[in-house]
Amino acid sequence: MTDCIFCKIVEKKIPSKTVYEDEQLIVFHDINPAAPVHLLIVPKEHIPSLSDCQQRHADLLGRMMLLAPKLAAEQGCAYVPDNGGSGGYKTLFNVGPDGGQEVYHLHLHVIGGPRPWRGQR
Ligand code: AMP
Ligand code: ZN
Repeated sequence: MTDCIFCKIVEKKIPSKTVYEDEQLIVFHDINPAAPVHLLIVPKEHIPSLSDCQQRHADLLGRMMLLAPKLAAEQGCAYVPDNGGSGGYKTLFNVGPDGGQEVYHLHLHVIGGPRPWRGQR
């Protein structure tokens, strides 16, 4: 997808603050963070949105979701359940205009860190 900003990041045609990469996924800091930690977990395959995912994407989606707690921990916002609990983060797919989706290349937001947060996500 020549006009897709996240495809350009995948292809390293525009820079990003990448924190993780493998054959299927890239993860980078959101350019306009809604909270102290705001990562985007992005598949390298161009899939416009969650509603375009098929059964063949089940493994990819599972990988994206299982990566969220690992990277949240690396970024210092792991959920610690002891003593009433501390830390934690939000995971979010925005889907379509009413879902607030701005970039039509599938991505999972991981948003966390000490509150209050600036964003309304
Ligand atoms: P969404 O509204 O779910 O489509 O979210 C798109 C997100 O991509 C927004 O939070 C933007 O701040 C973020 N974003 C847009 N362009 C870039 C970029 N070049 N690098 C990092 N994040 C970006
Ligand atoms: Zn794309």
